Amino acid sequence: MELWELSAWEISEKVKAKEVSAQEVLEAHLSRIAEVDPSICSFLSVLEAEARIAASRVDAKIAGGEDPGILAGVPCALKDNLNLRGTACTCASKILDGYISPYTATAVARLIEQGAVITGKTNMDEFAMGSSTERSAFMVTRNPWDTDRAPGGSSGGSAAAVAAGLSTVALGSDTGGSIRQPAAFTGIVGLKPTYGRVSRYGLVAFASSLDQIGPFARDVRDAALVLEAMAGFDPADATSSDRPVVPWSKRLERPVKGLRAGVPKELLGFGVSEGVKSAFYSALERLAGMGVIVEETSLPSLAYALDVYYVIAPAEASSNLSRFDGVRYGLSKRGKGYLDMYRETRGEGFGPEVRRRIMLGTFALSADQYEAYYLRAAKIRTLIRRDFERAFQSYDVLLSPTTPTVAFKIGEESEDPMTRYMADVMTVSINLAGLPAVSVPCGFAEIPDGAGKEMPCGLQIIGKPFDEETVLAAAYAVESFVKEELEEKSAQMRRNLLLAEECEPVD
Ligand code: GLN
Repeated sequence: MELWELSAWEISEKVKAKEVSAQEVLEAHLSRIAEVDPSICSFLSVLEAEARIAASRVDAKIAGGEDPGILAGVPCALKDNLNLRGTACTCASKILDGYISPYTATAVARLIEQGAVITGKTNMDEFAMGSSTERSAFMVTRNPWDTDRAPGGSSGGSAAAVAAGLSTVALGSDTGGSIRQPAAFTGIVGLKPTYGRVSRYGLVAFASSLDQIGPFARDVRDAALVLEAMAGFDPADATSSDRPVVPWSKRLERPVKGLRAGVPKELLGFGVSEGVKSAFYSALERLAGMGVIVEETSLPSLAYALDVYYVIAPAEASSNLSRFDGVRYGLSKRGKGYLDMYRETRGEGFGPEVRRRIMLGTFALSADQYEAYYLRAAKIRTLIRRDFERAFQSYDVLLSPTTPTVAFKIGEESEDPMTRYMADVMTVSINLAGLPAVSVPCGFAEIPDGAGKEMPCGLQIIGKPFDEETVLAAAYAVESFVKEELEEKSAQMRRNLLLAEECEPVD
C-alpha cells in the first residue's frame, strides 16, 4: 500500500512507532499532488516549504521522546477561508489579492498541536457561496470520479483532494451544506459539527450564525479523530461551547440495535433522482437489518427552510463582507473619494454571485424591508428548530439523502440562481437549527446515459445538539456495509487519475 493511501489513524500509529517518518509521509503526498493535481485542480496553493518544516518538527519530537499528538504526521489540507499565519488566504476571491494571514485559526492551530502537517489551501466557491466550486475566481476543481463533473461546493477543493488521495484529511466550512454536499459528490465522509462545537476564530465569516468548521476524511474514524483534535471551548469565540470533548474515535463501535431513526418526508419530496433514492432506501433496509428502527416522520416547517436560509445567509453575509472595502484587506483601488474607492474595489474584487448575495442581504435588512424579510425569516427559523426538537423526542437520529442528485457536470449547474439554490434543500435546515450532521457514502447510482458509469451517493445522518457520538456511530454502521465496494471502486478511481488529462484553465 502506498503512503498516500493510508488513513489518518494508520499514519499516526506508524509515525509514532517510527515505522515511517512524517517527512516520508509528506513527500509521498507532495509527489502525488504534483502528479495528479494538474487534472483535479484542488489546491490553490501547496505549502511545500512550510509543510517540510512541520513534518521535520513532528519527527524531531518523536526522536526526543515527546508525545507528537493524535494526528502525528497526518497531511491535512485547508479550505482557503481558514487563516494560517504567514500564508495567503484568498477565499477564492480577487478582493483578497495579496492578503497574508496575520494569525492562525484556532481549529487549525489545534490540529498542528496534535501533529498534523498542513499541506496547502484548497479551492472553493468565492467566500463559500455556491455548491460546485465553479464560482471560484481562480479555477474550476474537477470531481476525481469523473473529471467532467463538479466536486460539489463550496468546499470542493478539500473534498476532491481527500477523495483523490492528495491529502489524508482536510478541513472545510459548512454554512448550508458546504461540507456534506461535496463529501457526498466525491464518495467520502464530511461532518458538520453542532454549532459551537468547533471554534470559528480564524474562519473568514460568511453567515456567522450558521458557519461551522468540519472535517473531510475517507472513513468515519478519521473524521472523528480530526473532530476530537479541534473541538472544544475557545475564549476567542464567544459562541464556542464548553461541553467536554468526547473521544469520538473510540466510541464508534457502539451498537446501533434499537436506535430510533426518523426519515422526514419533507426531505424526500424535492426532485430526488431515482438512483439516489434507490441507494438511500437500500441503506435504510440494511440499517433496519442491523436492528435500527426506521420510520417515516414529518417536520412540516422544513418546507420553508430554503427560503429562510436564502434570506438569513445573505443578510449576515452583507454585513460580514462590508469589511472588504479596499482599506484594510487585499485589493485596493483608487477613486475620487472614499465612496468611489469602495465602489471600484468592491465592483472589481467581488464576483457576480457574491455581489448578488450582498445586494439580496442588504435589501432584506433595509429599514423598509426588515420586517417583511429578515424578521419573518428569523421567526420561521425558530419554528424549524422547534420541529427538530419535537422530532428528537421520538428519534435518536434523522436520515435523508445528502443531495437530490449525484454530482452534476461542470457547466451544467443552472445559470438560474433559484434552480441552483434548490439543490441545497436537504442540508440548509440543519444549519438553521445548529445541529450536527454527517454525510457518509451509502452506495452508487448509475448516471443516466452514462453507459453504466456510476457516481457515489451520500446518506445524511442528523443528530441532537452535541450528540456527534450517536451521529458518528450510526455513520460507522452505514460505512460497514459499503466499505468493501467503496474501497475497491475508490482504489480504481485513484489509479485512473494518473491517466486523466490536465484541467483546462478557466477565466
Ligand atoms: N450552497 C450553499 C450556498 O450557496 C451553502 C454554502 C455553504 O455551506 N458555505 O450558500
